[in-house]
Amino acid sequence: MSEASVALLGVKGGPAIKPGSNMPCSHLVKLAGKNIVVDAGLGVARGICDQGVELTEIDMIIITHLHSDHYLELGPLFHTAWTAGLNKPIKVVGPKGLQDYWDGFLLSMKFDIDLRIEDEGRCDLSELFAYEEIYEGEIFGSDDLTVTALKNIHPPIEESYAIRIQTSEKSVTLSGDTTYMPELADFAKSSDVLVHEALLLKGVDALCKSLGVKDDRLKNHLLRSHTTAGDVGKIASKAKIKALVLNHLVPGADPSITEQDWVDAVREHWQGELHIGRDGMKIEF
Ligand SMILES: [Zn+2]
Ligand SMILES: [Zn+2]
Repeated sequence: MSEASVALLGVKGGPAIKPGSNMPCSHLVKLAGKNIVVDAGLGVARGICDQGVELTEIDMIIITHLHSDHYLELGPLFHTAWTAGLNKPIKVVGPKGLQDYWDGFLLSMKFDIDLRIEDEGRCDLSELFAYEEIYEGEIFGSDDLTVTALKNIHPPIEESYAIRIQTSEKSVTLSGDTTYMPELADFAKSSDVLVHEALLLKGVDALCKSLGVKDDRLKNHLLRSHTTAGDVGKIASKAKIKALVLNHLVPGADPSITEQDWVDAVREHWQGELHIGRDGMKIEF
């Protein structure tokens, strides 16, 4: 049987990085012989290579929503794959607005792209981006693999999705960015792995202070748009999944917060297999 795994290429919530911090959010799912990238935050190309996967071997890219920590590196990922020899389109599924991002990226790099086509005989990069708008329901189906999207709750963004990738025997669910959403337990039901975003309340005030924000808007966004680690434990228990993985950790770069803090918060509601995400962590299932 082919490999079934999910690798966390970046586990930090939010776009800013600091010395010693993790990278923003991206995942590489290997299932049914396919390499599926979910989100393309800063560092995604490096992360894929570090998993031993060629950038030319990506089969599909899914962008869960248009916060920059989830798609800032999408254009550079394509460009880098192209210079590494990519010459066939990759299916990209994501919210409306992604086409504008791609068109803008091509424009911003026009000099280099035109030069490489003319001077190096490269194929036309613009034709490699096979874009389809995301919607709720089955977004990909083949004999041996199904990908399903569920709208989650991530205000003020409306087009934001959780993703389930499965075969007849294996399944992995990724929450995307969402506030506590009990319905997600049904969507993730019996998954081998649930990768869920997580917020640790005790670090929120220090985080907002460290970023120099002057009012409560960032704090209010974090509290109404993300899920506390305790509530993640509730989802895991209700969904009866086999293994829970925390990612998109907020705060993601606070040295006073330890892995044990995350574990303690989840353990109130979930006693099963638990992994606190780290960049490069791969979970096989
Ligand atoms: Zn995010
Ligand atoms: Zn977000």
